[in-house]
Parts: sequence; C-alpha cells; structure tokens
Amino acid sequence: MAMNVGAKLGNMRNAWWVPVVKVPGEMQYGHESSRLILLERTRPHSFMVNREGKRFTNEAGNYNAMGGVFHAFDPQKFEYPNNPCWLIFDHKHKTLYDVAGCPAGDNAPDWMIQSETIGELANLISVEPEILKATFERFNKFASKGEDPDFKRGESAYDTFNGDQSQEGVKATLQALTTPPYYAIKVEGGALGTNGGPKTDANCRVLSLNGGVINGLYAAGNAMAAPTGMVYGGAGGTIGPAMTFGYIAGISAANR
Ligand SMILES: Cc1cc2nc3c(=O)[nH]c(=O)nc-3n(C[C@H](O)[C@H](O)[C@H](O)COP(=O)(O)OP(=O)(O)OC[C@H]3O[C@@H](n4cnc5c(N)ncnc54)[C@H](O)[C@@H]3O)c2cc1C
Repeated sequence: MAMNVGAKLGNMRNAWWVPVVKVPGEMQYGHESSRLILLERTRPHSFMVNREGKRFTNEAGNYNAMGGVFHAFDPQKFEYPNNPCWLIFDHKHKTLYDVAGCPAGDNAPDWMIQSETIGELANLISVEPEILKATFERFNKFASKGEDPDFKRGESAYDTFNGDQSQEGVKATLQALTTPPYYAIKVEGGALGTNGGPKTDANCRVLSLNGGVINGLYAAGNAMAAPTGMVYGGAGGTIGPAMTFGYIAGISAANR
C-alpha cells in the first residue's frame, strides 16, 4: 500500500533474526510452528556446528546478530553452510536442562538424534565424522580450561547471563561434553518479525521517492524501516523503538 503511493523503502533484506527449532508435529494457528532457541545453545555441555561439522560462531551470542552468520553465503558451493546447523549436547546437558520443550531429565523424544559416540552421531546427521570428532575434541580441550579461543564464548556478561546461573563465571556457558549419549537437534535461522518497510523522517512521516514526505502517511514499529537498521539494541530492542516511534507518530499525526 505504501509503495502504491510512492513510499521510499528501507531494510527490506533484513528481519529481527533468531535461531529456531521446529519440533515435529508442533502447530500454531494451523501452521508448523518454531521454538526460539536461546538458553539451549547458551548452557554448558553444548556447541553448534554447521553442515561441515565445524563451529561457526559464539553459540551464546545475541540472537539478532546471529542472523548475519546464519545467512553467510558460500559463493563456491552456492549454499548457506550454516543454515540449518546442529546443536550438539551431551547427556549431562539433557539431564540438567530443558531442551526445545523436552523437560530436563525426561527421556529424549524420537525426533532428537542420539548416539553413544560422536562419530556415529556425525553419521546420523550426515556430517563427516572425522571433522565432527576434531571439533568436539578441540571444544572440549579448551572448554575444560574455561576458554574458547575460536569464538570467545563466555567472555561477555551477555553469554553467561543466559547460561546456567548456578555455575561460577565462564562455567555458566562453557563446559566440555563428557557424558554419553550425545544428542543433535537441527537449528535454523528464523525471524521474530519483519523490520523493513517505509522509510520515515524523525517525526515518523513516510518519505517519498520523489523527495519530501507523503502527506498524512506515518509508519512505526515492525512496519517501518527499522531506525536501528540491522541492529538489535538490547533487551526490548524491538518493542522499545516500536512504542517510542508509535508515540511520536501519534503526536505527529495529531499536530497535523
Ligand atoms: C516469540 C517472540 C518473542 C519476542 N520477544 C521480544 C522481546 O523479548 N523483546 C522485544 O522487544 N521484542 C520481542 N519480540 C518482537 C516484538 O514482539 C515485535 O517486534 C513487536 O510486537 C512489534 O510491534 P508492532 O506494534 O510493530 O506490530 P504487531 O505487534 O505485529 O502489531 C500489528 C497489529 O496490526 C494488526 N493488523 C495487521 N493488519 C491489519 C489491518 N489490515 N488492519 C488492522 N489491523 C491490522 C495486527 O493484528 C497486530 O495487532 C518478540 C517477537 C516474537 C514473535
């Protein structure tokens, strides 16, 4: 509708990103639904690997920023190697924490892939076993020292905040996988909402392709080109700006 009246658009290739898991059979409003994966990938005894069996990011990082690494494109293979990816965790993790709606300590549901060995788990998820084993050994070697030289997991307060708060320091997010069986669940790049749309001025008036503003047309919230661009500014990073710009748009329209 905004395009019909000549609105300038912005941020159309972006969204509010978040890693998600689809649990087979879970539906909402008649559609296959997805679960946000935040705590599962942040808590200890777990890491994520791409389809090559390699880690590709700090698993405990900011979910919106993670959209960037999920959508990294390999121009040689013409594919997105990190999307979907796999969350790998051990039985200790499964015993201590809820995972994608499966309560801590419950038997793993059929859709969770599991094996007594990392090599066999790799076969089950079609990842090269030698590569997954090397990733596993390297992660464990450093995690048992409380370090992640590859992606700095645990160095930011954000990483440990979403981890296991009963653990001290970096251990809240970073601990080795030592207890079989090992599990894998498929994680995909998902979205909490759109954030592209009509561009506005500071009074939320929609900008025109011909210059100036479109009289009487305002935008705010997810429908506007996000004033923060690709960035999620922190907790409430979408609702905060949506309320602020909704308020400004209302005042602006009333003044007109
Ligand atoms: C699972 C989940 C968790 C989230 N967690 C957070 C969080 O912790 N913090 C945070 O800041 N953000 C979070 N978000 C994002 C946040 O909820 C949204 O960005 C925000 O609600 C968008 O607000 P809005 O008013 O722009 O849009 P909406 O809330 O989508 O409102 C748009 C409204 O317009 C109505 N509508 C649509 N079409 C029409 C029409 N033709 N006529 C009349 N009405 C219409 C819709 O029914 C809807 O009520 C989360 C989102 C999801 C999905």
